[in-house]
Amino acid sequence: MIFEQLETYGHEQVVFCHNKDVGLKAIIAIHNTVLGPALGGTRMWPYKTEQEALNDVLRLSRGMTYKNAVAGLNLGGGKAVIIGDPSKDKSEALFRAFGQFVDSQGGRYITAEDVGIDVNDMEYVYRETQFVTGVHQVHGGSGDPSPFTAYGTLQGLMATLNHKFGDEEVGKYSYAVQGLGHVGMEFVKLLKERGAKIFVTDINPTLVERAVEDHGAEAVAPDEIYDVDATVYSPCALGGTVNFDTLPRLKAKVICGAANNQLANNEVGDEVAKRGILYAPDYAVNAGGVMNISLEIDGYNRERAMRMMRTIYHNLSRIFEIAERDGIPTYQAADRLAEERIETIGKLKLPMGRGTPRFQGRVRGH
Ligand code: NAD
Repeated sequence: MIFEQLETYGHEQVVFCHNKDVGLKAIIAIHNTVLGPALGGTRMWPYKTEQEALNDVLRLSRGMTYKNAVAGLNLGGGKAVIIGDPSKDKSEALFRAFGQFVDSQGGRYITAEDVGIDVNDMEYVYRETQFVTGVHQVHGGSGDPSPFTAYGTLQGLMATLNHKFGDEEVGKYSYAVQGLGHVGMEFVKLLKERGAKIFVTDINPTLVERAVEDHGAEAVAPDEIYDVDATVYSPCALGGTVNFDTLPRLKAKVICGAANNQLANNEVGDEVAKRGILYAPDYAVNAGGVMNISLEIDGYNRERAMRMMRTIYHNLSRIFEIAERDGIPTYQAADRLAEERIETIGKLKLPMGRGTPRFQGRVRGH
């Protein structure tokens, strides 16, 4: 049953991690290491069943292979899940035990934060292994990735506008931004700096007030964001918001935002394309976060990170070219770009091999 799933998804390795003394039950899934070590965060979640945890880690790790490949990184895809409630099951011992399992992979898997995990948890993991990114800046880590994700989203937006309208003047167009969290608020700020008209919403009214006061945005109720007359719908909250209920309401010509898994399913993606709405594939647009943490491997440098975000423009342009070349929706073109890169680069024989990640310029803290 498990091997059947691995065959369907194409995973290389799945590691079940158990430490009875500290109550650790975790799964590390290494999907593909053709391009390099598998990088992807660790999620802590109170999964109801082990099967649910396994399904999640298999799905997420495969997603990282595609995201890292399209981002142009020399990294494969992996992910880990810890079965537990982040509000009560966390402890130093738990994360150190998990860190030992990460270490035992010898660099084939590199972890980071994901849902339910913060930088303090990663500090414990870091005590047991160097194969972790998103560590604190005092150790040479990269800190909060959100501003980079927002800046990367802006690059993706410019490429998308250019493809759709033949110019990339962000300020000429209007935007419906859903979600004003770490990424959304920063994205609104970048749009405002370029003179754009912005509609915003969030389920947290304090954040909405801040966007109105600080960035001159116009507030709408959470459910009204699908109806506003804006050129671009920008999902920056949850996944699945582009679905058969919301799509007929959208007036936007472009969908471009930072949220993961924006399309409820592939059929919606096909319908988006049929309606002539240009969808900027989410995992290509929001790769700024993973690009940022990936730089910790060679020694983190903020300048370099900002330059790297600009490659998102190029990646999006390439996706749109493939969509036109092959007559397919953009969400499929993104997958095709990833698969083509893995195939062609995978055939190269690198003289030095891919080796173990180096993690230069970092300070081990205890
Ligand atoms: P966040 O939790 O800081 O912000 C999410 C915001 O969405 C919150 O303010 C929340 O109140 C709001 N929200 C939730 N449900 C809503 C609804 N129904 N309507 C309107 N607003 C709603 O998260 P974030 O770090 O800003 O990430 C936003 C999205 O971008 C997520 O999908 C995340 O997976 C994705 N992403 C983030 C990064 C990053 O660097 N932080 C990188 C890649 C992808």
